[in-house]
Amino acid sequence: MDRKKLEEQIAQYPIFEYAFIEADKIPFRDKVRYICETECPQYGRSWSCPPAVGTVRECRERCARFDSGFLFTTLAEVNDMENMEEMLDTRMEHEKITEQVRRLFMEQCGKVLTLSTESCALCKTCTYPDAPCRRPEQMLPCVESYGILVTELAEKCGISFMNGAGVVTWFSLILYREDGTAQV
Ligand code: SF4
Repeated sequence: MDRKKLEEQIAQYPIFEYAFIEADKIPFRDKVRYICETECPQYGRSWSCPPAVGTVRECRERCARFDSGFLFTTLAEVNDMENMEEMLDTRMEHEKITEQVRRLFMEQCGKVLTLSTESCALCKTCTYPDAPCRRPEQMLPCVESYGILVTELAEKCGISFMNGAGVVTWFSLILYREDGTAQV
């Protein structure tokens, strides 16, 4: 993987912070999954969320097929952090950037595994659980759905989790193999 080339390419996007990490440093925690189960309204409603993504152990094993990760953030300003609708409206811009950065990694490394924000919103209504996902190649599970503790991961990477009042920090994580040999 040519990091210098990648860094030149991503300079065109409004990425706030990023870090390259070793995949085995990613913190998987069952307590994150517990929060999905007990607090998230999307639990059991999307192919991009638990339980459809598999157990935390299965997610961890899927990630272990890659040796490297690229964590990055974008920022969005909102008037009211308590207003979930306003906050989620800012998400799609981050998703577009994630898709473009993901393509840059695919150009260099072939197969990648991309985790992004919230539940997949590609279809108006998710087919889960009655029929297969309509767009499995484009569907991106959220980082937390894999049981990854984003606060700890961000800290390990030196990336700020909080960026001030009225600022939403969106995270994405792209897993890849440095030598581009992932067979997933
Ligand atoms: S692409 Fe459609 S069917 Fe697949 S997870 Fe997303 S919303 Fe559900």
